[in-house]
Amino acid sequence: MKYYSTRDTQKKAFDSAEVIKQGLASDGGLFIPESIPQLTREDILTISSMTYPERAATVLSKFLTDYTYDELLTDAKAAYSETSFPGGAAPLNKVNDSIYSLELWHGPTAAFKDMALQIMPRLLSRALVKTGESNTALILVATSGDTGKAALEGYKDIDRIKIMVFYPVDGVSKVQKLQMATQTGNNVNVYAIRGNFDDAQTGVKKIFSDKEAATKLLENKYILSSANSINWGRLVPQIVYYVSAYCDMLNAGDIEYGETVNVCVPTGNFGNIFAAYIAKLMGLPLAKLVCASNANNVLTDFLSTGTYDRNRKFHTTMSPSMDILISSNLERLLCFAAGEEKTAAYMAELNKNGKYTVDAATKATIDETFVGFCANEEETAATLKKFYSEQGYLADTHTSVALNCAEQYMTKYNDGKKMIVASTASPYKFAADVYKSITDTAANSDTEALDQLSALTDTEISYPLRNLTERKVNFDSVIDPDQMLDVVYKFM
Ligand SMILES: *Cc1c(COP(=O)(O)O)cnc(C)c1O
Repeated sequence: MKYYSTRDTQKKAFDSAEVIKQGLASDGGLFIPESIPQLTREDILTISSMTYPERAATVLSKFLTDYTYDELLTDAKAAYSETSFPGGAAPLNKVNDSIYSLELWHGPTAAFKDMALQIMPRLLSRALVKTGESNTALILVATSGDTGKAALEGYKDIDRIKIMVFYPVDGVSKVQKLQMATQTGNNVNVYAIRGNFDDAQTGVKKIFSDKEAATKLLENKYILSSANSINWGRLVPQIVYYVSAYCDMLNAGDIEYGETVNVCVPTGNFGNIFAAYIAKLMGLPLAKLVCASNANNVLTDFLSTGTYDRNRKFHTTMSPSMDILISSNLERLLCFAAGEEKTAAYMAELNKNGKYTVDAATKATIDETFVGFCANEEETAATLKKFYSEQGYLADTHTSVALNCAEQYMTKYNDGKKMIVASTASPYKFAADVYKSITDTAANSDTEALDQLSALTDTEISYPLRNLTERKVNFDSVIDPDQMLDVVYKFM
């Protein structure tokens, strides 16, 4: 299987190891596979009897053809072990007759980014060997919270890789800060930046484009790499859990083979829902993909009008991982629907004017599969409370946006199909907002909210979030943005 850039009409081909190492294509586009491998009825029935790591290795081997099945199985077993995912890697929880919650947050940081970031570093480590790279990869991450912690947990103690995370000192929650400050591992480093997320992000981007820094790093046998969600190595592990969910529904006798189900995904960067799209293109019987947004509803508008317009107010919400105005992975869908030439043109317009409008044929192709809904803060809180009190299902704020949108879809289209809702974070990850949504009273504090929510709902705090305040702080340095390169040099 070869890959090429979404903006390259020549379709210059790359192997998967090279694509995982490079992350972004040199023309600024994203890598996509040249064709979509198919899952036959036999394949799906076989996968149904497998463990999660075997399911993962089977699906990954169809895309990552320069890795052996044994390599992929070894990595999948290590990534999705019982120790890392004590509740199972992607359990499917039946909420009611029509809604199934696909819980992707039983991993080491209690958010769905673990599903990709537990395995992707292992794939990158192998990619360095496969591409003959003799240098160590230094991963730089600017984070507003969740990605940083998930990347640290994924890359810690991985051969040939070091990771450094920068976060805004006052721009993350107390829980997130504690999670990062207490990080362990012999190849990790964490700094707080005096500034906001943009300052951290700009600082990292500056280092990536600094030629002098690249030379100096290379002299010391380092190359820079990113853990960004546009890397194909992060996307392909996300296809697996949609296949897995369908198999679990078959195994439970809730569907017959061939019966189509809908999927609703709380969306930010459009990575997770795009993985569902690939699963559908592979032949998994999925019908509609419902794109759920919060008050930052740029995708809802795009899916209804065909115009993507980022020139709008940015809202800070209680589902912060979806507070995004540029959904990078949408470019991959555009390429599938419109081809490389138009995609390159749309992206140029987006860069220049912050907006573009797709043509009628492209919109029609997208409409065959995708439909968008959004939920504001009040609706999110009300849905969270309703599912807890009426169905006994405790959802986090992001999942609640999706539950709300799933119900909007079912009311509007009433197609009688079952709906898989991607549940992307543990309720304990956003305990204060979850507690407030259910009780209409504020928790005592961010950290006390965990115990308060546990007492209120008689459920256990997700294991990565227990006893956070008692753990040893390993990283407490705060620096100015202009010191970032210095600490990178110091770290190497
Ligand atoms: C990252 C994230 C999302 C958004 O996923 P995308 O793949 O960027 O669309 C949704 N919910 C949570 C909790 C996340 O961490």
